[in-house]
Amino acid sequence: MKFASRLVSFNVAPGDPFRPMATPIYQTATFEQEEATAFGPYDYSRSGNPTRTVLEEQLAALENGTRGFCFSSGMAAITCITRLLRSGDEIVAESDLYGGACRLFTRVLGRTGIIARYADASDVDAFASVINECTRLVYLESPTNPLLRVVDIQKIAELAHARGALLAVDSSAMSPYLQNPLDLGADIVLHSATKYLCGHSDVTAGVVVVRDDELAKQIYFLQNAEGNALGPFDAFLFLRGLKTLKLRLDCQQKNAQAVAEWLEDHPQVTGVNYPGLASSPGYLLQHKQARGAGAVLSFTTGSVETSRRIVEAAHMFSICVSFGSINSTISLPGCMSHASVPPEVGAVRDLPADLVRLSVGIEDASDLIADLERAFATVSSPAQIAVDETATEVA
Ligand code: PLP
Repeated sequence: MKFASRLVSFNVAPGDPFRPMATPIYQTATFEQEEATAFGPYDYSRSGNPTRTVLEEQLAALENGTRGFCFSSGMAAITCITRLLRSGDEIVAESDLYGGACRLFTRVLGRTGIIARYADASDVDAFASVINECTRLVYLESPTNPLLRVVDIQKIAELAHARGALLAVDSSAMSPYLQNPLDLGADIVLHSATKYLCGHSDVTAGVVVVRDDELAKQIYFLQNAEGNALGPFDAFLFLRGLKTLKLRLDCQQKNAQAVAEWLEDHPQVTGVNYPGLASSPGYLLQHKQARGAGAVLSFTTGSVETSRRIVEAAHMFSICVSFGSINSTISLPGCMSHASVPPEVGAVRDLPADLVRLSVGIEDASDLIADLERAFATVSSPAQIAVDETATEVA
């Protein structure tokens, strides 16, 4: 079956005598046992719940893995993976990483004797030089967030495995519709399902999918031991959103391409980061390892003040830290989603302060472009340019 069919043609309620078309919400914390020592398939929803099982099996199938695990958030999923490490182990991560992941790696895991190192993974040699004999986990996003750098997942997987480390890929910006990191050699694919997988800004959730049985056993052990699995009602909402993933992303991606091309020609824009543009350094690699460029892009204006005012002048793009929803959003990552990057990590990543990130939704592309056109026009009056120049010096 093709992806569009797989999204909706699966057993939504295994064993249910009433054959519902949507997965029932098993809103129960516990399940009665027939005998004190005889367990049924479920006993306690932290350990397993039928609504969550349907979702986890569907996600494992969509990522071409064998086992899927759903968590209460993307951060809970990332945290679970880091529990595979012990004191003295090291993580080597792509430097253009979601701010919350940096915060976890450096400020939380740092307290437990785990060291995180960062390098630009789109430069494989530079990245390789940071890996050492203590590296147990290599961690990346591709395309990266918010600079949209494309990382060669296959090459980094070979590198990680040659050094005895696992590769985990946060594929939140792509979803399994556009990219399957396990097929490229990654050991673990994870998502902030809060983004495209759920797609409507109404659920916070995380996903881990693996192929290896032993790894799956360890992740299940950790998920159950730490108690951060997704609840049944959120699993239901997730299942509902997931069915329209392809429809949403096809539209969002088409809109993003139109917006990126419009920005590329705009005189007030100094650079556009989007792997769907033929001028992008990651264009060829992106189209080799993924089936599209996604719907997140970023651009610079040369002035923090200009960027801030464009963000505030846009109406159809809500100012919002997240991405991946059907509604378009706009942000200044340096002071929003990536403000949690610890200063010592910020020093090794080149995040421009005037960077604006857009997540393009399913609105009509012409309305989105008209909104940006108006926002740019608002900040380009002569008096405002004078403010910009001062601001550029300050920035
Ligand atoms: N990964 C990426 C790429 C993200 O952007 C985020 C959140 O913005 C996360 C992980 C964390 O996910 P959550 O907010 O669902 O905990």
